[in-house]
Amino acid sequence: MGRTIGEILAEVDQRLEWAQIRFKEAKESGLKVIGLYCGYIPFELVRAVGAIPVSLCGSDADAIPSAELELPRNFCPLIKSSYGLAITDTCPFFHFADALIGETTCDGKKKVFELLARLRPVHVMQLPYDKNAPGALDQWRSEMKRVSEFLVGVTGIEPTPERLSAEIYYENELRRVLQRIVRTFERPVPSLTWTQMLSVRSLTDFVVDRAPYLALIEELAEAVSVADAAVGDASTSGRMPRVLVTGSPMSPETNKVMRIAEESGALVVAHDACSGTKMFDRLVDEEGDPLDALTRYTLYIPCACMSPNDGRVDLLRSSVSTYGVEGVIDTVWQACHTFNVESVIVQRACREELNVPCLKIETDYSAADEGQLRTRIEAFVEQML
Ligand code: SF4
Ligand code: SF4
Repeated sequence: MGRTIGEILAEVDQRLEWAQIRFKEAKESGLKVIGLYCGYIPFELVRAVGAIPVSLCGSDADAIPSAELELPRNFCPLIKSSYGLAITDTCPFFHFADALIGETTCDGKKKVFELLARLRPVHVMQLPYDKNAPGALDQWRSEMKRVSEFLVGVTGIEPTPERLSAEIYYENELRRVLQRIVRTFERPVPSLTWTQMLSVRSLTDFVVDRAPYLALIEELAEAVSVADAAVGDASTSGRMPRVLVTGSPMSPETNKVMRIAEESGALVVAHDACSGTKMFDRLVDEEGDPLDALTRYTLYIPCACMSPNDGRVDLLRSSVSTYGVEGVIDTVWQACHTFNVESVIVQRACREELNVPCLKIETDYSAADEGQLRTRIEAFVEQML
């Protein structure tokens, strides 16, 4: 008899906890670690030069006061946390990073990469903001080439087409298994909660050796499908409105909006942000030139930094339909102008096209507004009953 979902999830949490030890061992064995801050930078490219990618997006509220000694207080908490962790050397993953790759996704990040360059070698990818503009694909392809040269400078290993194709296949395998797991959220009674799924997805960002991670999520996919089959198509006991949480990315430590929604009686069935399905709901093309395939895959990420960003509403439309969503919560980190302005488009699509209520929440990493958030989210959930 296989392990239960609870036992597998306990191992996910344990692996998250121990991830820093794996990175320490990797460094000691001579591997290079590359710190990344965004999904526009493909893990495949980093792996193809023999290095280990790690996400350095900060989720620690305690690191923010140190960052505020240099950065404006009215600034995105994700950037402040990342920067605070870096300058105080309190993030083990930043500590182990040999080099950083940044991107010009938002003004805050691109200026902070100038500051981080004092601490580590930094390469910044120049992202075109309109993916359909003439020359955008060529420009992004040449950025892929440039970052690949930078990475070769760090490890001395060429990302040959064969190596890149193998990495694309492996990362796609991870995406395929994660896609299988989230199918549980299409059911009346999912076998997981999205707060649990957040940890499962988050672990992808902190993996040295992917084989045990792949085996673990395959085991989870199997356990979820057995549990789904056992529950059958029974409807929930009691009415739980099906909610999609969208917007700025969150982590298991900064997921207060999702957590409060679940505690308030909502069934969170979709999370289409970078911390959710956005990074695995499509596959990289396994045919043709692998660098071209990565260029297309990343350029078409529907992030709010794109202008226009039609893909965001397309994604919202398909998530609402796939998961039977009855209400949307749009979460925006304070001072994140791109997601904040785009919230108008999200709310309009919910109201005028999708016919579902939408609650916009602007917040930061502190617990100070939790009481007020709970009141608003409870009222939102109640209105759908
Ligand atoms: S939300 Fe946009 S900028 Fe942030 S990690 Fe995702 S793709 Fe990158
Ligand atoms: S949440 Fe917004 S401001 Fe913060 S890093 Fe992401 S895009 Fe930039």
